[in-house]
Amino acid sequence: MDELSVAMKARDFIAKCGPLALPVSVDAYAAQVGGTVKQEVLQENEDAWSVRLSNGKYRICVNCAHDSRRQRFSVCHEVAHEVLGIAADHTSPRWSFARRPPGEIACDVFAAELLLPFKVFKPRVDAVDMNFAAISGLADEFDASLTSTGSRFATFSRELCAFVLSEGGKVRYCARSTSLRDARAWVRTGMDLPSDSYSARVRAGVAVSGPEQAEPDQWFEDWERDGVFYEDVRHLGAWDQTLTLLWFDDEDLPPPRSERKRWEEETFGLRELDGKLPWPGKSKRRK
Ligand SMILES: [Zn+2]
Repeated sequence: MDELSVAMKARDFIAKCGPLALPVSVDAYAAQVGGTVKQEVLQENEDAWSVRLSNGKYRICVNCAHDSRRQRFSVCHEVAHEVLGIAADHTSPRWSFARRPPGEIACDVFAAELLLPFKVFKPRVDAVDMNFAAISGLADEFDASLTSTGSRFATFSRELCAFVLSEGGKVRYCARSTSLRDARAWVRTGMDLPSDSYSARVRAGVAVSGPEQAEPDQWFEDWERDGVFYEDVRHLGAWDQTLTLLWFDDEDLPPPRSERKRWEEETFGLRELDGKLPWPGKSKRRK
């Protein structure tokens, strides 16, 4: 089952649950599958488990030691197991994508749809500024984690942007907007945070001070395009997780440098070079 069909199933499920209020009620989602939610003491890394009882009720047990936003995601994840008919395999950690079974990833996709429903989330993404303060505001509004909110924010943004999750200073996961995917910008999983990047400095203890200008070729593999590029960051010290938002302040990127040379030759080929590049460098937006 691909991610799009999982997302569509989640949207159908949400429609069955009645009008949407924010933040969404995860108890209402559980009730839709005949479920009730119980908080229990579980193992430290265990998010939740669920079972269909002989009386037909669906019991969802979440880890009471986890913060409430993580518990909300876990409830949605358990609802996903029931709706998608996928048996749980909770032996690998949530963010270990390399080892995470496809069924678990499908349930995470479904859960993110439930918690941050496209219909109400996407217009918010389009309305707010591009920075972590805005993502934080959305996370509060939807009562979801900064990580889930940031990941979906980048996925649905119409700007050229990416959300990167690093753990222990290594990139574990990256969500990109459609336009950034089309531009073939790719952050390699497993790479170290660029050594002098804003993200690396914040991880080392430097205070966050709002977005900073950054170098795209530090982040993207084989990148040879210019553009006004920004980085904003949050560090979650308890898990040594660094969340990075990357974006271009351009509607369209200049072509790669190799193509640009050809463009310049074609356009200005007959003109003597005067040392002034005809290529328009800086974005004129938001300035
Ligand atoms: Zn699961």
